[in-house]
Amino acid sequence: MDAERLTAALGAWRAALGDEAVHTDAAATAAAGIATFDTTQTIPAILYPASVDQVRECLRIANRYRAPLYPISTGKNWGLGSRVPPRDGCAVLDLSRLNRILDFDEKLACVTVEPGVTFHQLHRFLADRKSALFAAVTGGSPYGSVLANALERGDGEGPCGDRAAHVAGLEVVLPNGEVIHTGFARFDGNRSAKTNRWGVGPALDGLFMQSNLGVVTRMTVWLSPKPAYQLCFTCKIADGAIGTFVDALRPLVLHELIRGNCITLWNSYKFLARAGRYPWSLTQGKTPFSLREVKGAEPWFAAGSVYCASREAGTAAQTVIAQALGGRTSELNFIDTASLTPELLAMLEPGVPREQNLRTTYWRKRCEIPDDPDPQRDRCGVIWLCPVLPFDGASLLEVAGIVEGIVRKHALEPQIGFNPTSGRNLNMYITLVYDRDVAGEDARAMACHDELLQALATRGVLPYRLGIQSMDKLPPTDDGYTALLRILKQTLDPNDILAPGRYDFRESPETK
Ligand SMILES: Cc1cc2nc3c(=O)[nH]c(=O)nc-3n(C[C@H](O)[C@H](O)[C@H](O)COP(=O)(O)OP(=O)(O)OC[C@H]3O[C@@H](n4cnc5c(N)ncnc54)[C@H](O)[C@@H]3O)c2cc1C
Repeated sequence: MDAERLTAALGAWRAALGDEAVHTDAAATAAAGIATFDTTQTIPAILYPASVDQVRECLRIANRYRAPLYPISTGKNWGLGSRVPPRDGCAVLDLSRLNRILDFDEKLACVTVEPGVTFHQLHRFLADRKSALFAAVTGGSPYGSVLANALERGDGEGPCGDRAAHVAGLEVVLPNGEVIHTGFARFDGNRSAKTNRWGVGPALDGLFMQSNLGVVTRMTVWLSPKPAYQLCFTCKIADGAIGTFVDALRPLVLHELIRGNCITLWNSYKFLARAGRYPWSLTQGKTPFSLREVKGAEPWFAAGSVYCASREAGTAAQTVIAQALGGRTSELNFIDTASLTPELLAMLEPGVPREQNLRTTYWRKRCEIPDDPDPQRDRCGVIWLCPVLPFDGASLLEVAGIVEGIVRKHALEPQIGFNPTSGRNLNMYITLVYDRDVAGEDARAMACHDELLQALATRGVLPYRLGIQSMDKLPPTDDGYTALLRILKQTLDPNDILAPGRYDFRESPETK
C-alpha cells in the first residue's frame, strides 16, 4: 500500500486506540514478521485494541484508507506462521488484550471467552473454582488462545478435543465493522445460545473458521466433566504393524468406547524427540538419523484414555480394549492409577496445559532446552503439515511410507503423529524440525514441505488445516466452491482489508 494512505491510517488508529496501543517501532514490527521458518513479509504496525468497539473502529479505519489488517489472538500459531500474515504490508490486529472470561456455567459445562484467553488462564480459572470440568488442551503453547485454536479447527486432548465441533454463539465483527452473533446468540435473551450448536436456519459459524470473513471476538466453548475413573493405557506397536493396529482400533472408536481425540499415536522419531535430542555423537554429526539402521526397527507408540463414569465402567472397557489391541505385535499396558505417586498422577490429569511437547521442536538444536521452551525465540525450525485421512490402516501405512521416504530424501527425520477425531477420520500432523541457525536448512525444509504436500495431494490426501506456507498450494478444482468464496469475500469485504490471502484460495485458477 502507498505510504500516504498508511500514514493516514496510522494517525486514525492512534486517535482511536491511543498512541501506546499502536506499535510501529522497527524492533516490534520486525519481530512480528518472524515465524518458525523463513518469511519475507513486512508488517507496518501492530494494533492492540482493548474492546470490541475498538476492533470495530480499527476495521472501519482500515476500510477508509484501504489499509489491510491481519487478526491474531495470541499469535502462537507455531509451525503454521505464528503472527505473520500470508500477504505483505498488513498491520497485525493483536487481540490479546481482549482476555476476559465472560461467562461460566458449571452445570451445563460451558465457558464464554474472548480471543486473548489462553489455555493456561482457563485452566487456572477452573482450578481456582475447584471446577469438576476441564477444557481439551493442545500440545502447543499453554499461552495459545482457546478461541483461535478452535477457529483454526485445531485438536485438543479429551472428549471435546475436536474443538470447532464443541463451540457455540460466536460474536463476529464483520470487515465493515458491523457485529453479528451466530446460532441462537442473535436472539436477545435466548436460553440456548451457549448450549445449542446450530441455532435455526443456515449455520454461519463455519464461514468464520479458517477464513478471512470476520474477526471473532467471543465464543462459548464446551467443557468435559472430569471422569469419575480414568482408564489410561499405552501401547508400543511393532515395526510394520501400525496398519493392523489402526484397523483394530477403529471399531473401538466407532463404538465410542474410546472417544475421538482420546488416543494419540506417534512414530519413533516424534517419541524420541520428546524424550531426548538428536544423537550428534552417535551419528558423528551426520544427518539424517535412522533408528532402523541403529536398532533395526521403528515402532509406533499410542497413549489413550477412557473417561468413565465409574470404576466398574473402566474395568469393562479395559477388557474390551485388551481383547482388541493386545496381541503379538503390540505391548499394551494399562496404568494402575491407584498405585501412582501424586506427581505421576498429576501428569495424567486431563485439561492441564503442558509444555513437554514443545521439547520435540528442539530435536536438532545443540543448545540446552530452556525451562520456558519457545521454538520461535530459539530459532528452532518448525514446519507443520496436517493431512487428513480416512480411519483405515492401509491408507495410514501408505501415507506414512510416502512421508518417511520424502522426509529422509531431504535429510530430515519424519516426526509423525495422528489422532482419530471420530471412528471415521484420522488427523495427521507431520512436523519438520530443523535448526534455523544452520545455513540452507530453511530452504531445504520448505522444499520438503512442498514436495510432501504435492505428493499427498496427487494421492487424494489434503491438509485439514493450512499455514501461511501452504495457503496457495492446494490443487485447482473444477467445482464452483472457490468462485462462491470469492463472491462472499467481495460482498463482505469489498476493499479486501481483512487478512488477504488467508484461506481464500485467491491464487487458485478460476475454473467456472
Ligand atoms: C510442538 C507443537 C505442538 C502443537 N500441538 C498442537 C495441538 O495439539 N493441537 C493444535 O491444534 N495445534 C497444535 N500446535 C499448533 C499451534 O501452536 C496451535 O494451534 C496454537 O493454538 C495456535 O496459536 P494461537 O492459539 O496463538 O492462535 P493465533 O496465532 O492467535 O491464531 C491462529 C490464526 O487464526 C486466525 N485468528 C486468530 N484469532 C482470530 C480471531 N479472533 N478472529 C479471526 N481470525 C483469527 C489468524 O489468522 C491466526 O493466524 C502445535 C504446535 C507445536 C509447535
